[in-house]
Amino acid sequence: MEPAAALARARTLLLEAPRVLVLTGAGISAESGVPTFRGPGGLWKDFRPEELATPEAFARDPRLVWEWYGWRRGLVAACAPNAGHLALAHWMLGRAGISLVTQNVDALHERAAREAADVRGADPAPALPIRLHGSIARVRCTRCDHAADHHGPVDASARETLPACPACGALLRPDVVWFGEALPAAAMARAAAAAQAADACLVVGTAGAVQPAAGFAMTVARRRRPLVVVDPGPTAFDGMAEVKLAGSAGAALPPLLG
Ligand code: NAD
Ligand code: ZN
Repeated sequence: MEPAAALARARTLLLEAPRVLVLTGAGISAESGVPTFRGPGGLWKDFRPEELATPEAFARDPRLVWEWYGWRRGLVAACAPNAGHLALAHWMLGRAGISLVTQNVDALHERAAREAADVRGADPAPALPIRLHGSIARVRCTRCDHAADHHGPVDASARETLPACPACGALLRPDVVWFGEALPAAAMARAAAAAQAADACLVVGTAGAVQPAAGFAMTVARRRRPLVVVDPGPTAFDGMAEVKLAGSAGAALPPLLG
């Protein structure tokens, strides 16, 4: 299909579907300047993420892990939602029936939801994502069930200065899913229900290698509902996509959803 025809076809599929599942990954934040783990600028002090993003690493050296998250928070704070995040947020505020499931922990969908809602004088809630992997802008307690927003810098100079739980005093940890940990049950259930109900699926910026996230889009395809893929590179979804828009999220999403 030539590009104009592909765009028109994808628009029709998505705009006419009563219920749409949107699945996003690290690629939607690439144009915001959020480094991927393995891309340029993604590595920290020569550690691999697998050495830091684990419960064992946190148990062994919480100061080191918090120092890394402090650095990542700083990187993300210097970034802003891009045209792709904003087009999605406006689309979700303008119509019902869209579920946004993200693997990203960078809180840029949330920031885009608030920006778009401010412009419209609306409530951002309908544009908030279902987070499969948590958020680096949140913390949760290592002992009790306290969890809260927490964006600011972290003093990781000593074990004693790390953030502590206001309810029980135990150490707080980033509210993200680490290697080897289960995904949050409530988010999983909401994503599974959205995948079962969707009349179409839009996949943006995810290679599709990480399960169970990729499986939600594949569920929609298996139910023989159309998939639209926006990604400049090859993905695991390409063979099942009704339309592949091989562009960046920031360039492709505004004309697709606007
Ligand atoms: P991935 O690295 O496997 O795939 C990224 C995809 O984005 C690739 O297919 C690539 O072609 C595409 N891409 C690159 N630039 C793009 C652009 N401008 N527009 C659209 N697509 C673009 O990412 P993944 O599938 O999300 O899996 C990586 C894992 O790492 C996930 O578990 C995620 O939670 C985590 N992670 C998250 C962030 C974040 O929160 N921003 C950053 C790094 C890693
Ligand atoms: Zn606590």
